Amino acid sequence: MFSRIDHIGVAVQELEPALELYGGSMQLTVAHREVVAEQGVEAVLLDVGENHVELLAPLSEDTPVGRFLAKQGPGLHHVAYQVTDIVATLEALGQAGMRMIDEQPRTGIRGSLVAFIHPRSTGGVLTEIVQPAEVH
Ligand code: ZN
Repeated sequence: MFSRIDHIGVAVQELEPALELYGGSMQLTVAHREVVAEQGVEAVLLDVGENHVELLAPLSEDTPVGRFLAKQGPGLHHVAYQVTDIVATLEALGQAGMRMIDEQPRTGIRGSLVAFIHPRSTGGVLTEIVQPAEVH
């Protein structure tokens, strides 16, 4: 069902200092930068081989990532698995009794389709499933 880790999401207060760290000190290459208004974030994808780190900065305090930062501070936010058929995956996860944050796929970064699984169903790890735009 899950073909590989798509990305690791990291919550940051500000993108520029985070980019100095990831793009500078850690020498990762920026692959994409986008405001995802629906999720209340500006996101940057950095290449790590075929996978990515996704830096997430909130557009305001009153967003999911803004509230996460207020509660827990910056750091690891979610793990994202890649799938080829997000609708079938959502159905299979629902049948397995997993609690979803998103019952339907929504638009994510770079035109992907995404859905989040509630951390209560995944042992405390906020989990995202991603169907990249290329395999629509
Ligand atoms: Zn993500």
